[in-house]
Amino acid sequence: MDIPKQYDPKEAEQHHYERWERSGAFAPEINKDPNAPVYSIVIPPPNVTGSLHMGHALQHTLMDVMTRHKRMSGFRTLWLPGVDHAGISTQLMVSRALKKEGKSRHDLGREKFVERVWQWKHESGSQITVQMRREGASVDWSREKFTMDEDLSRAVREVFVRLYEEGWIYRGNRIVNWCPMDQTVLSDLEVEKLPQQGKLYYLRYPIKSNNGSDSANPRYVTVATTRPETMLGDTAVAVNPNDERYRDLKGQTILLPLTDREIPVVFDEYVDPQFGTGAVKITPAHDPNDYELGLRHNLAQVVVIDAHAKMTPEAGANFAGLDRYAAREKVVEEFERLGLLEKVVDYEFSISKCERCKTVIEPLISTQWFMKMDQLRDLALELMSKEQKPRFVPENYERVYTNWLENLRDWTISRQLWWGHQIPAWYTKDGEVIVARSEAEAREKAGTNELTQDPDVLDTWFSSGLWPFSTFGWPNETNDLKTFYPTSVLVTARDIIFLWVSRMVMMGMKFIGKEPFADVFITGTILDPQGQRMSKTKMNGVDPLHVFDKFGVDATRLTLAQVGSTDTRWNEKQVESYRNFANKIWNAARFCLLYSEPRINTDNTDLQLHDRWILSRLTKTAQEVNAALAAYEFHDAVQTLYHFFWDDFCDWYIELTKADVTTEEDTPRRRDARSRLLSVLEQALRLLHPFMPYITEELWLRLPGDKQLHAAYQGAEPTIMLAAYPEGDPQLIDEAAETEMKEIIDLISRVRNIRSEMNIKPADRVKIIVKRGGGKLADFGVLEDQILRLTRASDLSFGEAPKASARSILSGGAELAIPLEGLIDFEQERQRLNREQQKLQAESAKLEAQLGNPNFVERAPAERVNELRARIADIAQRSSQLRQTVENLQ
Ligand SMILES: [Zn+2]
Repeated sequence: MDIPKQYDPKEAEQHHYERWERSGAFAPEINKDPNAPVYSIVIPPPNVTGSLHMGHALQHTLMDVMTRHKRMSGFRTLWLPGVDHAGISTQLMVSRALKKEGKSRHDLGREKFVERVWQWKHESGSQITVQMRREGASVDWSREKFTMDEDLSRAVREVFVRLYEEGWIYRGNRIVNWCPMDQTVLSDLEVEKLPQQGKLYYLRYPIKSNNGSDSANPRYVTVATTRPETMLGDTAVAVNPNDERYRDLKGQTILLPLTDREIPVVFDEYVDPQFGTGAVKITPAHDPNDYELGLRHNLAQVVVIDAHAKMTPEAGANFAGLDRYAAREKVVEEFERLGLLEKVVDYEFSISKCERCKTVIEPLISTQWFMKMDQLRDLALELMSKEQKPRFVPENYERVYTNWLENLRDWTISRQLWWGHQIPAWYTKDGEVIVARSEAEAREKAGTNELTQDPDVLDTWFSSGLWPFSTFGWPNETNDLKTFYPTSVLVTARDIIFLWVSRMVMMGMKFIGKEPFADVFITGTILDPQGQRMSKTKMNGVDPLHVFDKFGVDATRLTLAQVGSTDTRWNEKQVESYRNFANKIWNAARFCLLYSEPRINTDNTDLQLHDRWILSRLTKTAQEVNAALAAYEFHDAVQTLYHFFWDDFCDWYIELTKADVTTEEDTPRRRDARSRLLSVLEQALRLLHPFMPYITEELWLRLPGDKQLHAAYQGAEPTIMLAAYPEGDPQLIDEAAETEMKEIIDLISRVRNIRSEMNIKPADRVKIIVKRGGGKLADFGVLEDQILRLTRASDLSFGEAPKASARSILSGGAELAIPLEGLIDFEQERQRLNREQQKLQAESAKLEAQLGNPNFVERAPAERVNELRARIADIAQRSSQLRQTVENLQ
């Protein structure tokens, strides 16, 4: 059999991916079983501007493992790919490109600008779909979607119109988060709240005297604020009705300084008597809480700050046109001049910034489109309380999700951008609003052609919220929708549970009447080696493509798969060790192929002990991996496979069967051994395939003989990805063989330990003597040849050993002894062992002293302290071993 000595991952990666994609193996149609169960996943669509980062690579690996596993298990499997139009990011990216040409989007105008974005998308967008092919993602590219595709846009308009007609979408004046830099409204989720060191200003407002003026002795009420400039827009002072200090303010009027306005005092439970002076200024047009309070008390809304964060004419002639911060200084100066500034104190508070550009957001009253969330929210909460859907893994995210839903407010869905789904609302000359699925429908409804469409677009998350059904062709009742909705699982990061997961659930319940996915798996986060989040600004990210180049995709996938839902520091050593694992697989397979038979033996009669053992181990491995995947325990699945392949298969089975496999003479025993070895390898490759798709395909295709595909894929081009995933035949579990092999492995390992412990030369043969203990002893005789070969022993006998023997107690309780006479120089060995003993004791004493120092124990990280304690325990154990060994030399 011709197989290269070295595995070349790159060649396999490119070659096989192209083959798989071309042959249609990723599409659900490849499955010919009309009764096949269905498994489907929609990908969280990456931004069209995005390129692959570790977060994607992690999610995609987990989705691909599940998809490949289910496909091999005979499911009609669909993993649907696609890309999000990413409204503001994309618009900014294309605007920046224009800027280099000396133009702005306004120079082009809306239509040309949007054309330009499409052109950019066709030429250089969706980089990530090329990178996903490198990952081995078995997505069905024939169903790839883009949120701005015509069919998805149709779904967006349909949802908008229906929700508008039901009164769940409305247009209104509301206070919103406004980014003065990006010139757009932001949802609460696009705003970052950050701690800020600032000042708290105590301003004195004069109270207008009712019964004749007492100007010699004016009364004041003091309010505290972090934003003095907004006082120009105050329309009330509020106090708590239970606050004794302000009882007498009932019915009083305040003369608002720096303006000619008089404002009332209002009483409201919202006011916290503990904050500042217990009296607060109310600026309904520039603070969300004041806005709500203003509505309750019918207060006027005086707008003093505009969309560019500059003061308006309403702020008065002295302030109009000033930037908000300049106005702040001026207001404070004026108060000081008038003797109305009581004090200024340092104060830490939280400030809201635009998540994207970090500009301090300005709460503004603005006309926007909103979605009422109360009834939609109830649909999601009911689904959880009545049906416990969706199921969150790990389950603690369920509470995060429901808590957030319970506190949900109306969603601002309009954005002042050009790139996105333009709101399907038109205005007549008289200002009448017509909401329709198309301009033609709007004209018909309005009875006129003179309509102007609302210039705003919808928040990007509006279309992403429809993703699990818009991608299947909704509102049409398509076959895909019937077949693949609800999907099986959503795999995503925890930071978009609110932005995305909850909205998909609400929209799915509203428009399809069923949850969009059965399970939600929340992945862990991959941190940099220091435990920090990877970010573009910190430049501490690790590029998955570089890791692929360095260690191969399979090794990277194995590393990512075992992250699962746990936050994990990136550790290149781990990838390297899985690259070594890939090489181990290659070399083991190479050995099997060098001594292969033209057929694979799956007949399980006439088996030797080690055959029964490996089949039992293989069966349990298959069962454990299937169970781990069903429970989303990716880490366990990886560990189980790794140890089976490396320890059981390579270290023991190949070694134990080697003599039979490599013997010169062509006997039935050799044929059986060879083909059984291949059979175990073949099944192991299938077990590994979802995690390591490339190397397993490369090797599987090289195996001789018939390689069966799963019954659902008969007639398809041969590929391991359509072979059946081993479930494990319970009949092959053989506990007796496992127990016996465990003792034999223990015996061989202990003899090898003694050999290295006592410095016995590799060429020297030892004698193994076993003294039976009380318990039952494995029948070492059945594998005597292998035991002798693997331990370089000349014979194995039972009975008493001479005094000068190295001894060890076997797991079954019997005593193992290796007579040392003639093998080593006793005196020299004794000295060597004593020296080691002394060294260990010195080390132990030093560590004890360190741990005895309270300063060290208090300051050192707990991990370090535990490490030292573990080392001391190790030393103690090793010392006692050495003592035993030295005694044996007496
Ligand atoms: Zn911004």
